[in-house]
Amino acid sequence: MIDPGAPSPAPLPPWRRVLRGLGHRCPECGRGKLYARYLKQVESCAACGAPIGRIRAEDGPPWLTVLILGPFLAGLTFISSRQESWPLWITLPALSAFAILAVLMLLPRIKGAIIGLLWAMNLDR
Ligand SMILES: [Zn+2]
Repeated sequence: MIDPGAPSPAPLPPWRRVLRGLGHRCPECGRGKLYARYLKQVESCAACGAPIGRIRAEDGPPWLTVLILGPFLAGLTFISSRQESWPLWITLPALSAFAILAVLMLLPRIKGAIIGLLWAMNLDR
């Protein structure tokens, strides 16, 4: 039974909600899954019932993914083009495969972090 006179628990710091999103977990409780499929959010948390499906990250995750990976991949491409010991037919497919894998790994994490940040900012509740 909840005591109405008891003090409410301290609010969770926003960075904890961002970290929960990074880990593909519900930003409210940290126990439920954030995604039903690769980038498809669940409508509500299975553990606490928070309506996290209403949070829309929109274009933020792809934009931030490109902003993070772009300079890194440009530098990696420049460095690999200066190497004369590696043939171009190896470096270009390898860099392309690395770029695709990096985007596939980073995009859901960044989307989860943005959802956690939006949840912490209480913009859609
Ligand atoms: Zn939850």
